Amino acid sequence: MGCEWMRMSRLLYGLRALALSFLAVCWTVPVLAQGDALETIQIRPNVHVIFGAGGNITVHVGEDGVILVDSGSADMADRVLEAVEVITDQPIRMIINTSADADHVGGNQALAATGVPIAGDAFAVAPTAAIVAHENVLLRMAEEGELPYEDWPTETYTAKLRSMYINEDGVVLMRQTGAHTNGDSIVHFRRADVIATGDILDLRQFPVIDPEKGGSIQGELAALNTLLDITIPAMPFVLKPHRTLVVPGHGYISDYAEVVEYQYMVNVIRDRIEALLDKGMSLEQVIDANPTAGFRERYGSDTGPWTTDMFVEAIYNDLKNAPEE
Ligand SMILES: [Zn+2]
Repeated sequence: MGCEWMRMSRLLYGLRALALSFLAVCWTVPVLAQGDALETIQIRPNVHVIFGAGGNITVHVGEDGVILVDSGSADMADRVLEAVEVITDQPIRMIINTSADADHVGGNQALAATGVPIAGDAFAVAPTAAIVAHENVLLRMAEEGELPYEDWPTETYTAKLRSMYINEDGVVLMRQTGAHTNGDSIVHFRRADVIATGDILDLRQFPVIDPEKGGSIQGELAALNTLLDITIPAMPFVLKPHRTLVVPGHGYISDYAEVVEYQYMVNVIRDRIEALLDKGMSLEQVIDANPTAGFRERYGSDTGPWTTDMFVEAIYNDLKNAPEE
């Protein structure tokens, strides 16, 4: 299975460059706003992605209005709104949050306030767009108390899936709790064939599996496997541009090949750390053994909020504390 993936990955790797340059050339939409306009790319006739406001923001447009997946950082909300207004004059109807991270939820209040609710609330002080997330996102935001309650989700779910039909598209929120945090969701637009992954797929770096927020290596791998299950490569017509498009939490628009590579990288590092742990090594010894060799240059960092050592430590502790099988 792994071999098959790797073969397909290599094949698709070269073609991806071709396909993405096609995307860049054909589907880049000039953002007309003056000044510090955010970069926006149109990836489907009715789906755009806004970059540079924190986490990537997916914009789904149709007859019912605008769905945003994530809302960026609080201080970028004005520029996000400007970018949305360049794409469409439809109102924002719903914001879906893929986690409770500040650079994914910070614009909730400002953007929702410009919007229109899908279902009217007779008791609402001022009508706003709905903010939808897994229940653990609401619990975390309430517990941390760092963001005003207007940023909090107005609708939550706990089931495996939350499905809706909006803009003539099947919109499926898929719970992936315990991967990056305990509040992760993948958002699948079935007709558009676009998946917004949140930080389960973070192409800047090794995945942030934050143990303090309920993240785990097994949850991360399970989430990447789920992502692979629903992502369709450009097979068998490899030269055609048609494929499922994957919008990562951070980084460039991707497809099956990129998810395969990322899943492979996480899997290999996990297996290496488990093998070292089985030899009875301490955390320091495991770190010294450099279990991220071969991937460190691409995804690693020795500084910043998520270093390579933190990634190794999170996996080590997870595996060490895992119940015996
Ligand atoms: Zn993020």
